[in-house]
Amino acid sequence: MSLIDNYNQLKKSLPENITLVAVSKTHSFEKILELHNATGHLDFGENKVQELCGKYEQLPKNIQWHLIGHLQSNKVKYIAPFVHLIHSVDSEKLLQEINKQAKKCNRIIPVLLQIYIATEETKFGLSFTEAEELLLSSRLQNYSNIRINGFMGMASNTENMEQVKSEFSSLRKFFQYANINFPKNENVQLNTLSIGMSHDYNIAIESGSNMIRVGSLIFGERSYKTQ
Ligand SMILES: *Cc1c(COP(=O)(O)O)cnc(C)c1O
Repeated sequence: MSLIDNYNQLKKSLPENITLVAVSKTHSFEKILELHNATGHLDFGENKVQELCGKYEQLPKNIQWHLIGHLQSNKVKYIAPFVHLIHSVDSEKLLQEINKQAKKCNRIIPVLLQIYIATEETKFGLSFTEAEELLLSSRLQNYSNIRINGFMGMASNTENMEQVKSEFSSLRKFFQYANINFPKNENVQLNTLSIGMSHDYNIAIESGSNMIRVGSLIFGERSYKTQ
């Protein structure tokens, strides 16, 4: 099947409320442009700043770029002018830097807090406790150039789908709890739950996802593993 067929088949199967982020990391400008031109798709995800900036430069400016991989504070300045959503905020220091660079660009950058739900030790993210502490802290008021839109999580890399389901459900419960109990203000508007990739997006949707990040199912296998 072609790239366009893969995309159309996936898109057709998704409920209306699900935002599909097409994860284009390692794939060429040409493929992204082909998909964008054929379908009008706008949301693309990358996990490396350098690759993201290169693609931003080359491709139509109405594309909405999502940064989904680990972000180092010293690289925020490169994406601050244009990034659509940063999924991978895993420390207050990073949040602070995003706020600072957003202010310089005179914009508000939407972000998600990346929450650690997997049992593996290699995944980045905040614990539920750390996220709660941050969301309840009065320090957030200082960050008027960011908006926390919700949470991102990655399940364990396992064949055990019951485990995946329980990890996703734990994040959905936290999302619901946070929406009920945490103060809402201009820079905290929790409406996005970014969970689900090629192999587990169905379970993620059953578990309450409203944003999925799908790469290989659309573009085919990547020629090298980046994570
Ligand atoms: C690569 C990546 C994806 C997409 O993975 P696929 O298995 O190709 O769908 C989703 N989220 C993150 C954070 C990634 O790095």
